[in-house]
Amino acid sequence: MHVLIVEDDETLGDGLSRYLRQAAHQVDLVTNGREADLALTHEWYDFLILDIGLPGLDGFEVLRRARLRDRYVPTIVLTARDAVEDKVRGLDLGADDYLVKPFSLPELEARIRTVLRRNQKTAETHIVYGKLKVDIAARRAWVDDNPLRLTSREWGVLECLVLRAGKMVSKDQIAAAISDLDAGLNPNVIEVYISRLRQKLAPSGVKIHSIRGFGYYLEKTADDEH
Ligand code: CA
Repeated sequence: MHVLIVEDDETLGDGLSRYLRQAAHQVDLVTNGREADLALTHEWYDFLILDIGLPGLDGFEVLRRARLRDRYVPTIVLTARDAVEDKVRGLDLGADDYLVKPFSLPELEARIRTVLRRNQKTAETHIVYGKLKVDIAARRAWVDDNPLRLTSREWGVLECLVLRAGKMVSKDQIAAAISDLDAGLNPNVIEVYISRLRQKLAPSGVKIHSIRGFGYYLEKTADDEH
């Protein structure tokens, strides 16, 4: 597992990296918020261990930015003793768990395992694409945090496009994906669902492009890249 540790306390940072390297993880250690933000922009991490009190950007800002990116990095925040507001704020910003300093290394490892187990159950089903969030298992979608009201067919079309976001999906593929309850679905009705979805997705900046004779693909607008 590729782990990013963000900790400005040298002793703690070194101790954490040594411990996780011994557990066969690939570890990067940075000591300020700007480096962390940069590392998260350019590298592909499987886990983030994030101190809150940091020079440069604080841990809250690093986490806020991380949660705007498409790739979800499971995160444990490290907070100082008695900083209850920090825990609440960290969890509000999307931390998966927090640890109060001082903590034992085996405790950290146990928490990492718990977070990973929890995420494995949901990771496959949660997709974030620009401002659009989709929970495949629950068959629900949101723009920002507003739930989208979709009919079952519209949902089927959206699911099909989201699972192949950025790639071309033919009308026949969509028809096959949504017609299991209704064999012989006329592919032309897909255009109706696409047009309704376009209206509902408008606030998300996510667009459904169509290429005549090929099919459709989902694309997010440039200003939704972070
Ligand atoms: Ca600190």
